[in-house]
Amino acid sequence: RAKSAGGNRYELADPEADARVITRHGLTTALPAALERGEFFIEYQPLVHLGDGGVRGAEALVRWLHPQHGVLGPDRFIPLAEHTGLIVPLGRWVLEQSVRQARAWRERYGDGDGGAADPLRINVNLSPCQLTHPGLVQDTVEILERTGVAPDALCLEVTESALIGADDGLLKPLRQLAEMGVDIALDDFGTGYSNLANLRRLPVSVLKLDRSFTQSMQRFPADPVDLKIVEGIVSLAHSLDLSVTVEGVETGAQADQLRVLGCDTAQGWYYARPGPPEHLHDLALADATG
Ligand code: C2E
Ligand code: MG
Ligand code: MG
Ligand code: MG
Repeated sequence: RAKSAGGNRYELADPEADARVITRHGLTTALPAALERGEFFIEYQPLVHLGDGGVRGAEALVRWLHPQHGVLGPDRFIPLAEHTGLIVPLGRWVLEQSVRQARAWRERYGDGDGGAADPLRINVNLSPCQLTHPGLVQDTVEILERTGVAPDALCLEVTESALIGADDGLLKPLRQLAEMGVDIALDDFGTGYSNLANLRRLPVSVLKLDRSFTQSMQRFPADPVDLKIVEGIVSLAHSLDLSVTVEGVETGAQADQLRVLGCDTAQGWYYARPGPPEHLHDLALADATG
């Protein structure tokens, strides 16, 4: 804080800003023990096919049940974990838990051959630090082998910004995973400096349109330019053999609009908020029984 002129006096720091700093520091130092003590947990948010309304899988979203502060969202602690490197073991833990959950869903709903419906798939977010970590491919292979889950049940989400200017070194692990059959999704697409020409260079098979596009469908009538942009992105994606998932669908009107525009899959509060895994059981079951 600014020192007042001519004296040894200091303004009192804004107590709220102070609390934020302490919390930030406190949270950062508490992260490793939190992982050991099992304070993290995962919520799952269904991915719904826009054509038939069926649940196809879920995205895993990590939370921290902090003993003093209650449940903290990933925006509060993922950046801290990235900063300290804890994101690597934390991300590995999330991946393993999520793949185990996918295994449990598959046991319950069948694995596609002989099973009831389509097998449920699992989407897991990857931070840029995990991408550059040399163990990524091997860790993923080991987790899939340990759990007996097929690679094509897994989709790893990487943000567009993490791949901006990505060189071959950075893309190599993603290519290896894609060759094994793991899907790679480009998350939050449209928020960064979307380079459409760059898309064909990336080993991605899913485009996740950012929530901001969905929000622009909220207005009625929607801005015709916004509609054209989404329509253009969807048709380009399809021509490159990418499927399109839309984030942040909050109303039935948005879902209808996005379906008309050709989007394949949707995710959002209109269908379900992120929740415990049983939540998805109920949805998929309701879906299967009509
Ligand atoms: P994301 O991957 O883009 O995840 C979607 C976010 O949108 C989630 O926020 C989800 O709860 C929220 N959301 C879903 N539907 C709606 C809706 O209809 N309306 C609105 N307003 N929001 C909706 P969340 O759970 O707070 O996660 C925030 C971000 O944290 C994620 O964005 C992802 O980038 C990151 N994250 C979450 N889990 C992990 C993880 O295990 N590892 C890494 N590296 N990052 C993670
Ligand atoms: Mg995501
Ligand atoms: Mg996203
Ligand atoms: Mg997003």
